[in-house]
Amino acid sequence: MSEKSETSIPAPVSRTDEEWRRELTPEEYHVLRQAGTERPYTGKYWDTHTAGVYKCRACGTELFTSKEKFDSHCGWPSFFAPLAEGRVRYLRDSTLGMERIEVRCAACDSHLGHVFEGEGYPTPTDQRYCINSISLTLVPTEE
Ligand SMILES: [Zn+2]
Repeated sequence: MSEKSETSIPAPVSRTDEEWRRELTPEEYHVLRQAGTERPYTGKYWDTHTAGVYKCRACGTELFTSKEKFDSHCGWPSFFAPLAEGRVRYLRDSTLGMERIEVRCAACDSHLGHVFEGEGYPTPTDQRYCINSISLTLVPTEE
């Protein structure tokens, strides 16, 4: 597949549930395919400042970059915007008695985390994409 412009909509990725179970670890499957949440401060990337691109752990679509990552101190990797609109999709989530916006990979529909806004973080968008580390794979920028 050739690399298109940053705003391109990723090609849909579809796998059966059985295929996902085979390809992902049980922990990855639980978060990505069952909308689980990793415990705060336990994930690989919550405190990472490495320059690079964060891909979907399930399908490899580029979702976020280190340029939009910021220190929210919430225990999960936080971004103020996705790499491009169209890379993620949004769903209303009313579980846990809260109205939240779930964020999923636009290509494979895997669960990534939630997005919150208006919290007062000093970022350009005042949004916090609160994403599970286990939903992402960081590909460091080549020096
Ligand atoms: Zn994906």
